[in-house]
Amino acid sequence: MNRLVVLGGGESGVGAALLAKQKGYEVFVSDKGTVNKKYKQVLVDNAIEWEELQHTEAKIFNADVVVKSPGIPDTVPLVQELLKKGIPVISEIEFAAQYTNATLVGITGSNGKTTTTLLTHHLLKDELNVGIAGNIGDSFAKQVAEKDYDNYVLELSSFQLDGIDSFKPHIAVITNLSEDHLDRYEYNYDNYIASKFRITKNQTADDYLIYDADDIEIEKYLMSHDIAATLIPFSLHKKLKEGVYLDNKDIKLTIKEETLTMPVKDLALEGKHNIKNAMASATVANLLKIRKATIRESLSNFQGVEHRLEHVLKIQNVQYINDSKATNVNAVYYALDSMQAPTVWIVGGVDKGNDYADLLSLVNEKVKAIICLGSDNNKIKAVFQNTVETLVEARSMTEAVHMAYRLSEKGDNVLLSPACASFDLFENYEDRGHQFKEAIRKL
Ligand code: ADP
Repeated sequence: MNRLVVLGGGESGVGAALLAKQKGYEVFVSDKGTVNKKYKQVLVDNAIEWEELQHTEAKIFNADVVVKSPGIPDTVPLVQELLKKGIPVISEIEFAAQYTNATLVGITGSNGKTTTTLLTHHLLKDELNVGIAGNIGDSFAKQVAEKDYDNYVLELSSFQLDGIDSFKPHIAVITNLSEDHLDRYEYNYDNYIASKFRITKNQTADDYLIYDADDIEIEKYLMSHDIAATLIPFSLHKKLKEGVYLDNKDIKLTIKEETLTMPVKDLALEGKHNIKNAMASATVANLLKIRKATIRESLSNFQGVEHRLEHVLKIQNVQYINDSKATNVNAVYYALDSMQAPTVWIVGGVDKGNDYADLLSLVNEKVKAIICLGSDNNKIKAVFQNTVETLVEARSMTEAVHMAYRLSEKGDNVLLSPACASFDLFENYEDRGHQFKEAIRKL
């Protein structure tokens, strides 16, 4: 019997264990931290052997294959040792894909993965039997074990793509590229980019790669590498014969001489970045033969995603917007760009080596006051104090929201779009967003 060892007992690891068990593997799950109660129960119920707070090497080095959680870097000694021994170390996505014949849509990029994945699923779900997985909801492996979907839309991080070998999506999307997670890529941006492009490495001319043709890094990569997939670009600025572009106020999608037109004003999601996300999603739907009327309707009634430019409440005619998921400068750029009124901007947290210079002109144009909300705000203060009239510091979300309430007037926006990670003052970006909404509701 083949032995499969799972490193990391979280959503993806436990899903892989379930699928492996079903396929007749001898399965062992090992987690150096603690395993969440919910997952322990699943492992016990399915008679899967597991351990926590340690990695027992004798039970790991006898594996035929190892499924590693995306959270564990390749550089940890245990993984290095496995690789040295020639034991394949793969991701849950790679493992699960071997057990399904479903049509796979894989979505990666630095920003917009979750939004584009949810939007794409929304466009497909009325006409296709389609599951959604990757970083969203139940793991891909668990669904392959338990469900019978003909199609999957998968949100894929670069870490998941690092662990693929034969995984081949029929349709791949790269939403955009900007520097992120460089600590896992030897601080080399090219390594991170190469990791994102792994999504297309097994594709053939019968498959599609949809990408942002306005993204310089994507264009550069495509010019210097042979890509087998059929390329479908989308752009806000270029007119494209084949692909998707903005024709005045309409989105125009042309594939094989068939054109679909959709007025931008009918899109449910606001902001230029969301036009791009809509372009990518509509292209996937079009390739999978969803009717044009359905595509148009679904683009116009999509509910949006929590913590991504989420409209929370209007109080005394001030619109409060939760963009807590904006953990890098690029996401904030699009948030500020989409502001149609003077904005009180709440920013700050754990700086990931941000270069705020790209935001200066937008801040100058749109922002009337900055509220810093981090344990160390010196960098933000240094960059922006001469750009805005009012720059203040808050110690808690409640204090920040009260300051925003005082600094805003009728017709303004209050935007939480932090450009930073959250773990100085919050558990995670969801906690930060929830605290923001809670404080607004208590105003
Ligand atoms: P991801 O899953 O890649 O982190 P999300 O959809 O969760 O992406 O969005 C993360 C942040 O990036 C949010 O603040 C969102 O408003 C912003 N965003 C969404 N789509 C894009 C895009 N295409 N380009 C830049 N920023 C985007």
